[in-house]
Amino acid sequence: MTTLSIANLHASVGGKRILNGIDLAVSSGQVHAVMGPNGAGKSTLSAVVMGQPGYTVIDGTVRLDDLDLLSMPTWQRAQAGLHLVMQYPTEVPGVAVADVLKEAFLARGRSTLDVEELMSKEAARINFGEQFLTRSVNVDLSGGEKKRNETLQLAILQPKIAILDELDSGLDIDALRDCSRRVEEATNEDGLGVLVITHYSRLLKELKPDVVHILVKGRIVETGGPELVEVLERDGYAAFERDQPEESSSTLDDLFGMPHNEN
Ligand code: ADP
Ligand code: MG
Repeated sequence: MTTLSIANLHASVGGKRILNGIDLAVSSGQVHAVMGPNGAGKSTLSAVVMGQPGYTVIDGTVRLDDLDLLSMPTWQRAQAGLHLVMQYPTEVPGVAVADVLKEAFLARGRSTLDVEELMSKEAARINFGEQFLTRSVNVDLSGGEKKRNETLQLAILQPKIAILDELDSGLDIDALRDCSRRVEEATNEDGLGVLVITHYSRLLKELKPDVVHILVKGRIVETGGPELVEVLERDGYAAFERDQPEESSSTLDDLFGMPHNEN
């Protein structure tokens, strides 16, 4: 049993304060959805938790069980069992997906002998053409093929906790079903814990959330069960956006790394 715990997380990017105190804990086998309008800070949250460069943590903690993730470089976070599927997957010319998986296996002390066999098996499971397996990672792939490629890596690497940042963006219906169903199966088969970030409910038809959080202006303004998805479907985000204070544009405290004083 593993838990990703995010507590009181404040962060900025480009001198702009984006996350204003996020509290969230995802354990093995659970699916937590973070839903919010464009610009709410969803991708910022995933980037900060994974340790993407360019983001400043102002306050708070991110832990994987007793590991302090914020003090670790991204590769160590990955080795510890955290995995991010990015909203816009990176193209890596000259590197095949088998190379990526073999390096990741070696870094985890796993034998690479069965990588190709696992790739064939997983490709069939998510309807991903075998011809893509020998090509450069994500180069000249359609949106759906890229996300299938990312889902294949996730399924083979078997991380403890996965963050999916808008798995649904750029996907057609069939690819969305194949990818989200495979992730749902991983939660049951491998006990994968999932933080799924989206602003559409359609992703959550296959990948069923246990908990739904609504993120507005860098704050979680509501947490509930799957029924919250229906509320959003009916009413949109407007009801949740009301009464939220405007985000501060102050950067002086960011420079000095001090918690922001909400006056
Ligand atoms: P979401 O994923 O919820 O749509 P993001 O986390 O991508 O939102 O962005 C949150 C806010 O941060 C947006 O207003 C965006 O313009 C801003 N932002 C993101 N990256 C940068 C950056 N590098 N410099 C300045 N502002 C940024
Ligand atoms: Mg985003």
